[in-house]
Amino acid sequence: MTTPDDTPKPACPICGKPAAPDFKPFCSKRCADVDLQRWLSGRYAIPGREEDAFGQDDGSREE
Ligand SMILES: [Zn+2]
Repeated sequence: MTTPDDTPKPACPICGKPAAPDFKPFCSKRCADVDLQRWLSGRYAIPGREEDAFGQDDGSREE
């Protein structure tokens, strides 16, 4: 017997697995954690990245 899948299950944005009701929209606490880390590091990375780019891309080299 097959049940029609009318309601598409939301996929976990981290790994693409079907989300678990307990950890919506993620499939597990682990993925929820990963997303949180990304979110946090993304926020904190903004000031750090600019500083980093200075020495990499905008490095005025003498030639
Ligand atoms: Zn996941």
